[in-house]
Amino acid sequence: MTHDLTLISGAGAVPAPTDVFIAQHLINGAWVSSASGQTFDRFSPANGQLVTQATLGGEAEVEAAIAAARTAFDDRRWSDTSGKERATFLLKVADLIDANRSRIALYETMESGKPIAQAEAEIEGAADIWRFAASLARTIHGDSHNTLGPDMLGVVLKEPIGVVSMITPWNFPFLIVSQKLPFALAAGCTAVIKPSELTSATTVILGQHLIEAGLPAGVVNIVLGYGDPVGTNLTNHPDVDMVSFTGSTAVGKAIVAATSKTLKKVSLELGGKNPQVIFPDADLDEAADAIVFGIYFNAGQCCNSGSRIIVHHDIAAVLIRKIVELSRKVPFGDPLNPSTKVGAIISSQHQAKIDGYVKEAVMAGATVAIGGAPLTIDGMSGEFYQPTVVANVTKNMAIASEEVFGPVLSVLTFTTFDEALEIANGGDYGLSAGVWSQDISTCLKFARRVQAGTVWTNTWMDGFAELPFGGAKESGLGRELGHHGMDEYLETKTVQMRIGKTRSRWV
Ligand code: NDP
Repeated sequence: MTHDLTLISGAGAVPAPTDVFIAQHLINGAWVSSASGQTFDRFSPANGQLVTQATLGGEAEVEAAIAAARTAFDDRRWSDTSGKERATFLLKVADLIDANRSRIALYETMESGKPIAQAEAEIEGAADIWRFAASLARTIHGDSHNTLGPDMLGVVLKEPIGVVSMITPWNFPFLIVSQKLPFALAAGCTAVIKPSELTSATTVILGQHLIEAGLPAGVVNIVLGYGDPVGTNLTNHPDVDMVSFTGSTAVGKAIVAATSKTLKKVSLELGGKNPQVIFPDADLDEAADAIVFGIYFNAGQCCNSGSRIIVHHDIAAVLIRKIVELSRKVPFGDPLNPSTKVGAIISSQHQAKIDGYVKEAVMAGATVAIGGAPLTIDGMSGEFYQPTVVANVTKNMAIASEEVFGPVLSVLTFTTFDEALEIANGGDYGLSAGVWSQDISTCLKFARRVQAGTVWTNTWMDGFAELPFGGAKESGLGRELGHHGMDEYLETKTVQMRIGKTRSRWV
């Protein structure tokens, strides 16, 4: 039954682009096509329109891009610039992102299927991150040790780590590259970026703005193409010093294995099966609204998706009722319509995967409180999925522990604090977690004991450029954002300075 949902069709939508976006690699300051002449197409997952035709990169393009980044790092054309110069550059990029927000958001929506209003907000948020990184560029410093005796001074320097490979996914293409690149540039690194082959356009647009803002050739390079061979070559190349990756845990593990041959630094932002525990004294209306936001935002295709709730047995029925009522009011539909809050699913294969999880859970005894099937939107030929709440989920079901990556909420119940914590900490992920209670002691106790990189108390998915983000357990290694995010791109060097000829001879 979909007639009681809030569905948005095309009337009032912003116009789609009329031209196909032609995407090329950015290598050593020039826009180039692959020598093979091969290309790949990206069609809108909402309506099948051809959005982007991209040149298909292979080993030769990766080799050229890494060579450009290596040379640009080794001849110090970027790392020798002052913090002030780097900050000025990053601020210029932020201004260009703001000035071109509508265009960037349009391509982000066309390729990813996310709602245009959300895309606009993400691009605005990305510009803010570039500004925050600019503020850090002027504050990089090590420390000094002046207590080593009158003849010695110890100086600890912070230096850029070198050439960084950045591999990004399709769910937040512009935001995620903006969680990596400005921090690496602030630190003085050079980079080669591979966006997901599903969402190349906005990373290419970012490259255009980097050039417009005056970035020296070779400092940032972009290679378009598939995980194999572009991603694999970016992770096993000896001239790369660090890999920063966001995507699935399975690929994250493959990257750790690939980088171990040359012992590169690795920063991984991986998946999550993020629990929210709702205690009986919680404000259930607030919690229900945040739960609905947490599961339907980006159609649930979000590492931070609040995809499982663990609710006290006594309030489960009333909370589920509130969530179902709100689910009916969330506008699903045409991503180009500014009223839409939930758009398309990234691909038909992914849609089938989402549906498979729901069907399997039902076979295992779970019940569907709302949704549980693909969704048809008038006039749209693409993939959409109904807002879905699956109740009576138990710990052993795949839907309770694996990433569904769709608008599908799993509901589990508990009776004691320890039981709730045990369910929350079960499984391999540890990205984020939430707790709902009006008792601050309960919130703090939970926050201290839950295994997660981020904990929200009486809220969900607030985010700030100042605060680090990343995962515990199999949700990742390292942190993005905050000053911790920039520290990832810095190496520590110790300089021990003897003052005068005071060293006692050994021989
Ligand atoms: P992947 O982890 O497969 O891909 C992420 C990026 O890594 C893409 O650019 C991809 O290239 C690239 N890549 C793939 N294989 C390799 C490799 N061996 N070496 C280096 N780079 C590689 O995510 P998917 O896009 O395929 O999504 C699959 C699942 O991953 C989702 O259903 C979801 O569960 C999870 N996911 C989690 C995300 C998160 O934010 N934590 C984000 C996206 C997905 P390409 O795809 O172009 O071939």
